[in-house]
Amino acid sequence: MKLREKTLLIIGATLIGLITVLYSISSTIVLGSFVELEKEDTGQDVERVRDSLSSDLSNLDSKTGDWANWNDTYDFIQDGNQDFIKTNPTDTSFIQIGINLMLFVNSSGHVIYGKAFDLENEKEIPVPQSLYEHISASNTLFYHPDTGNSLTGLILLPEGPMLIASRPILTSEGKGPIHGTLIFGRYLDAYELKQLSKVTHSPLTAYLFNSTQMPPDFQEARASLSKGDKIFVQPLDEQSIAGYTLLRDVYGRPILILREDAPRDIYQQGHASMSYFILSLLVIGLVFGAVTMLLLEKSVLSRLAHLISDVGNIGSKGDLSMRTLVTGGDELSNLSGSINTMLDALEHSQHELRKSEERYRSLIETSPDAVMLSDQEGRILVANQRAAQLHGFKDIEEILRKNIFELISQEDHQYAIDNLKKIMETGWIKNIEYSMLRKDGTRFPAELNASLIVDTKVKSNSIIYVVRDITERKRAEEVLQRAHDELELRVRERTAELARANEILKTEITERERAEEELKRANIELKKADELKTQFLSIVSHELRTPITPMNAQLQMILAGYFGDITEQQIKSLEMIQRNTTRLDRLIGDVLDISRLEAGVMKFIMVQVNLNEIVENAVETMRTQAQNKNLKLTLKEDKIPEITIDKDRITQVIINLINNAIKFTDTGGLIEVELSGSTDHAIVKVKDNGIGIKKEDLEKLFTPFQQVDSSYARKYEGSGLGLAICKRIVTYHGGKIWVESEPGKGSAFQFTIPYNYKIKERHDAAWR
Ligand code: ADP
Repeated sequence: MKLREKTLLIIGATLIGLITVLYSISSTIVLGSFVELEKEDTGQDVERVRDSLSSDLSNLDSKTGDWANWNDTYDFIQDGNQDFIKTNPTDTSFIQIGINLMLFVNSSGHVIYGKAFDLENEKEIPVPQSLYEHISASNTLFYHPDTGNSLTGLILLPEGPMLIASRPILTSEGKGPIHGTLIFGRYLDAYELKQLSKVTHSPLTAYLFNSTQMPPDFQEARASLSKGDKIFVQPLDEQSIAGYTLLRDVYGRPILILREDAPRDIYQQGHASMSYFILSLLVIGLVFGAVTMLLLEKSVLSRLAHLISDVGNIGSKGDLSMRTLVTGGDELSNLSGSINTMLDALEHSQHELRKSEERYRSLIETSPDAVMLSDQEGRILVANQRAAQLHGFKDIEEILRKNIFELISQEDHQYAIDNLKKIMETGWIKNIEYSMLRKDGTRFPAELNASLIVDTKVKSNSIIYVVRDITERKRAEEVLQRAHDELELRVRERTAELARANEILKTEITERERAEEELKRANIELKKADELKTQFLSIVSHELRTPITPMNAQLQMILAGYFGDITEQQIKSLEMIQRNTTRLDRLIGDVLDISRLEAGVMKFIMVQVNLNEIVENAVETMRTQAQNKNLKLTLKEDKIPEITIDKDRITQVIINLINNAIKFTDTGGLIEVELSGSTDHAIVKVKDNGIGIKKEDLEKLFTPFQQVDSSYARKYEGSGLGLAICKRIVTYHGGKIWVESEPGKGSAFQFTIPYNYKIKERHDAAWR
């Protein structure tokens, strides 16, 4: 259904609904109240009829009273005077009073006189027999207990219902005693009803309460009035409404139902008003509906139609560069704007999609591998040129009609089925090798990778295959395998060779070990020989020294002249002997020292001393010797902390170094002694500007019996042991000794003594 029709339908339905609801509400409320009003009005009319009836009764009562309180009547009831009958209850009296019955009853209940009159025909009629029966059956009608008593009401006679008034007969003054009862009656007949209806100008109808031919509306009224309602009102039809009331007789029994018919003017008026109201509502609704439609058409529907046609146009042409055109500032123009924004986004995403599609296509097309897409059954849906080419097809179209299984050799089919299952379970397979087929049936080895593409939208999966021809690789692998085999062979040969070489090596090692064993034995023997040599040297030097001391003493005594005068020549010879013995003594001393040191039997007496003092004393000891050779001897010293050393041995080292400096420095030279301290050791330096030492000789200096040059031995006396002894003493103290020298410029000997050197280390280090 179109929007326009829908709108029309909605407006129409709303209008109809509105009118229906309004009609039903107004008919319930307004017409209801009109009906109520009408009922009330009719009720009031009925009430008026009742009032009129009551007024008739009281009128009858007062007329009865006029006759009952009259001396003539009083007398008549007692004496039955016939004149009274002739003159008073005449036909004229009946017509004037307007009654049908006059009944004179005495105190004992006997009717003295009674007359009935037909007012319509103006003739006397017999008194109804039933009335006598009433009087004889009950005294209600004629018994008055006091003079002020009276009775009015209705009684039902076979002739019809009658209005009755009963009064006690009294004197004209209204005094008793009561001598009887006067009863006036008037039939409630059609005439009377007509009279009554004049009050309301509405016709009156009456039915006996017990009537069996009562119309249905009277029956309904009877049912309602029997319950005790005074008045019952009900509409008879669209035109008329009836009000009912129940009339009771003097005994209180229901005797008559009176109906008053009235036209339904109020109801008709209400109905007409309602119709006008609904009609005008319909007209207004139609006008508003038309205006609304017009406005809607102008401001919404036509613009919407325009928008729909724009969007339809764009859709049919598929041109996303087109735009919708709806002007204004309302939701429709916003919608148009939103559609345009959406079109922008769509255009952009379509562009991106196309780009990405092109990328993927070119990726697949340029792939060096064959790429195929199949459905779950293996039917090839998409393939690239390479796939067609690889399998020997002339174009892509041809391969698209194939199943992937047709491209796999028969013997690999089961493997391919297993792999397909694996793809479905795990989503992919990798590096699977198949023997694949070309169109002409030839085979080629291929490597295949595949993965599952799950499309939840269409609930069907597809599989993408990437196939690579691995003929070349296989060939290369074969070559590689051959090379590998060859290499393995060679390695095996080489290993055998190595094993042989190892055997030879083992034999050589055994021989070498044997040689080392021999060397060790030789070493031990050598050591023994060395020890023997040291022992020998020690013994020999001791034995040699022993005779020197008395020899020197004797020489000094001779030179001092204890044994008589001696010639110059003798003095010279003796001095030469003395020099040589002294030299011999020193030599032997040195040999003794070195042999003791080497044998490890030298005694060191370690005491804490002031090294400054030791150095100063040594310098002073050597000062005369230096001066004798006209050498300048200087001392430069730092204050050194107290140190534990063998002071005699350290003094021996310093004197030896100064002695060497004096010895190897020419007259006029300079010898500088320097004592300095570092954080953990003291340094003693003896520097001269003497002859110096050649570079190649420097290493030999601290080896026993090593004089640098044999020619020195002749020029400078010495054993070649001094520095070797110095080194061992310094080493014993944990220090180091070294020399820096340049021939012709002089030498600088230095040694260190650590402040804290452990005895054990000293023992270990001294003999290294
Ligand atoms: P010697 O008792 O022969 O002097 P040393 O062991 O004391 O033995 O010295 C070994 C050699 O070192 C010396 O013969 C000498 O050649 C060289 N020598 C030692 N001190 C000096 C020095 N101050 N200047 C030059 N040469 C030196």
